[in-house]
Amino acid sequence: MSKQNPLSTEKTDVIILGAGASGLMCAIEAGKRNRKVLVIDHAKKPGRKILMSGGRCCNFTNSNIHADNYISHNPHFCKSALSRYTQRDFLALVQKHRISISEKAHGQLFCDDSSQDILNILLSECEQAGVSFQLNSKIEKIEHPSERHFKVVSSKGDYICQSLVVATGGLSVPDSGATALGYKIAEQFHINVWPQSAGLVPFTFQPKDKEKFSALSGISVNAVVSNKRQHFFDNILFTHRGLSGPAVLQMSLYWQPGEELTINLLPEIDLIDIFKEQQQQRPQRRLKSMLAEYLPKRLVAVMTINDLAESPLRTISDNQFKKIAAQIQKWTIKPGGTEGYRTAEVTLGGVDCDAVSSKTMEARQTAGLFFVGEVLDVSGQLGGYNLQWAWSSGWCAGQVV
Ligand SMILES: Cc1cc2nc3c(=O)[nH]c(=O)nc-3n(C[C@H](O)[C@H](O)[C@H](O)COP(=O)(O)OP(=O)(O)OC[C@H]3O[C@@H](n4cnc5c(N)ncnc54)[C@H](O)[C@@H]3O)c2cc1C
Repeated sequence: MSKQNPLSTEKTDVIILGAGASGLMCAIEAGKRNRKVLVIDHAKKPGRKILMSGGRCCNFTNSNIHADNYISHNPHFCKSALSRYTQRDFLALVQKHRISISEKAHGQLFCDDSSQDILNILLSECEQAGVSFQLNSKIEKIEHPSERHFKVVSSKGDYICQSLVVATGGLSVPDSGATALGYKIAEQFHINVWPQSAGLVPFTFQPKDKEKFSALSGISVNAVVSNKRQHFFDNILFTHRGLSGPAVLQMSLYWQPGEELTINLLPEIDLIDIFKEQQQQRPQRRLKSMLAEYLPKRLVAVMTINDLAESPLRTISDNQFKKIAAQIQKWTIKPGGTEGYRTAEVTLGGVDCDAVSSKTMEARQTAGLFFVGEVLDVSGQLGGYNLQWAWSSGWCAGQVV
């Protein structure tokens, strides 16, 4: 990796703000076109979120990528980039570097060893493409001295470039170096920025529910989590603060504060049929023993808090059983909120896609200014979709910067 002289005012073709997934991909592609590329980041090392991703095994893409897997005020915006640089293209890059990978549930592609493998690929491609880095560098301001130039004033010197790429990501996990710089730059250039909120994030219980359900911490079951617009069938996890697990994280992308969720804790069976059958075959059996065949005992105890749990099946009326079944299969809960950016994987909202070309990621009103990755108002579902968006959008800008 070549180094910049920290004291000089450098001229370069392309400056990329942010050495994350989208910035590195853009740098590689621009470098391959023989553009002189400088990546600036305030972090000491590049790609911190890549390293954190996928439980440190980086769920780097998904075998099935569709625009439907993304949320944006402009749902069509992501289509062009995702079709120009696809999951197969990124997979080919991973295979070129002979990284061992596996496909897991729902088409999710992971590294077998470590996320570091993906970062190493990107850094080695950057090196081959002659990309320079200025890390540990605070960006103080951006100037636009002429139509054809941008000036980046940083703690390590000033830099002039023709193309400025904003790849500073979203707000999730502030400890990883996330800041609002990208949104501020957009606003400086009079680009609309949609309000942001935490996505792919656990829900917290309201105080009364916390009292009731925090004892279930650590329990996980397969469930369907739904609201009026969406539903997800996957694992949910009770935590001492609230609910997590893939189905819950997915739902957080589609949840509005104050909205109620319905959770089916036994989505694969007809509980009423089973009850009727068991009532005939084993009338003396207690309800809680019957339910414990399907759900963890601690969960049964909380979900059937009344005398019925101890009652023999023969004494339970159809109506009473319907109520129990509804409690388990149509459990409604109003989350108190989410855990916020501290644990969120993505940021919803961001730079308005309508202000940016979907083919090149260039700002429509400011030639030479580009936005790529999560800073844009494009958020993917859980499953490698966010990194694929970073690769695809970074690649598109890299062809033209
Ligand atoms: C814990 C966790 C796990 C995840 N797991 C997955 C996964 O498995 N699969 C998946 O698809 N997605 C995952 N994601 C989401 C994914 O990591 C991001 O969507 C993706 O990294 C976004 O890429 P980006 O280039 O837009 O931003 P980032 O990768 O966040 O890069 C932004 C860069 O900009 C720099 N920067 C920010 N502000 C400034 C500033 N003021 N000055 C200078 N530099 C700045 C940062 O230091 C950072 O290097 C995960 C996210 C988290 C938090």
